[in-house]
Amino acid sequence: MNIKTVVQDAMLIAGLVVSASALNGTSAWAADAAQNGTMIAAKTTSAAATPRILVLATGGTISGTADPRSAIGYNSGNVLGQDLVRGVPGIEKLANISAEQISNVGSQDMSDKIWFQLAHRIREAFDRNEADGVVITHGTDTVEETAFFLHNVLRSDKPVVLVGSMRPGGATSADGPGNLYEAVEVAASPKSQGRGVLVVMNDQIHGPRWITKTNTTAVQAFASPNAGAIGYVDPASVRFVTPPPQSARNVLGLPTSDQLPRVEIVYAHSNMDGRQIDHAISDGAKGIVLAGEGDGDASKEALAALDRAAKNGIIVVRSTRVMSGFVNRNVEVDDDRRGFVVSLDMNPQKARLFTQLLIANGVTDLGKIQQAFSDTW
Ligand code: ASP
Repeated sequence: MNIKTVVQDAMLIAGLVVSASALNGTSAWAADAAQNGTMIAAKTTSAAATPRILVLATGGTISGTADPRSAIGYNSGNVLGQDLVRGVPGIEKLANISAEQISNVGSQDMSDKIWFQLAHRIREAFDRNEADGVVITHGTDTVEETAFFLHNVLRSDKPVVLVGSMRPGGATSADGPGNLYEAVEVAASPKSQGRGVLVVMNDQIHGPRWITKTNTTAVQAFASPNAGAIGYVDPASVRFVTPPPQSARNVLGLPTSDQLPRVEIVYAHSNMDGRQIDHAISDGAKGIVLAGEGDGDASKEALAALDRAAKNGIIVVRSTRVMSGFVNRNVEVDDDRRGFVVSLDMNPQKARLFTQLLIANGVTDLGKIQQAFSDTW
């Protein structure tokens, strides 16, 4: 997708006049302000010291509008990123903000293609020194996966902050404006330097490896069960309660194809047979992640099917359907003998995308894969 065209379309829809500078990464607001003589971006007098934040909008409830047919219904992905920003009182005091539209989808439709567009655009913006930080507006259903994907393929000290909302614009309890304000605040804060990708929701700052959605509808929907929030934010302050990482992190290459290899998640349950797993094998999966019971276990029949998968050269990763805790090697399942990998504290959806990235980077040796699961954080 041509980002500039998308931005141009978005601006035309919003009735804005598009200037070349607005399309070259400088503030769309600045262009608009110049046109109208209205100051809507941060103070130009201190522009050199004012952080430049690039908002990349992808859709989700934060871009949604309430559906009049039902008290809790809504349509996600109706509002453009720059209109979201404009709707947040006082946000212009935090940073010079420009907004671009990457997609406008509910995050249940998030795809490898959009992930790659995000990664490329963020790299470009940082390489060209167009921005000091990035905020990504995103649906909450899969925000943890996008955050973890970007965490694994981006190497920059500049912050990348993902944010969503549980209620759409227009809802009585709309949480989008406050969340977006705080996401920009975190992205613009010097305290966020060197911390990589972060997720901000409901006054909390979470790390990408640990955050997960824990509630279907509540405003307090996110938690990091094995680690806790790494920081807190309110309209007046940003506070981290963990130190920034001390050692360099392994970053995986961004594969050339924007279609990651197929890795299936199989959800374990009582009375499970091996048919789903056999189907994944015959259907060409390159990896299978078991969302196992307890510490990543499954029935004898399911484990036998996973043995068949491993013998066929398919990467088998044991994770768990339980919300917290680690899946350790060789506890109830003999991983060494069976040739399985364990996901440790990575939930199934993160173990899946991590396995995809490893395979796409040519890492197929089981020992190296297991090491990578331990090394990333
Ligand atoms: N289905 C929506 C999405 O993930 C839910 C949300 O954003 O809260 O896009």
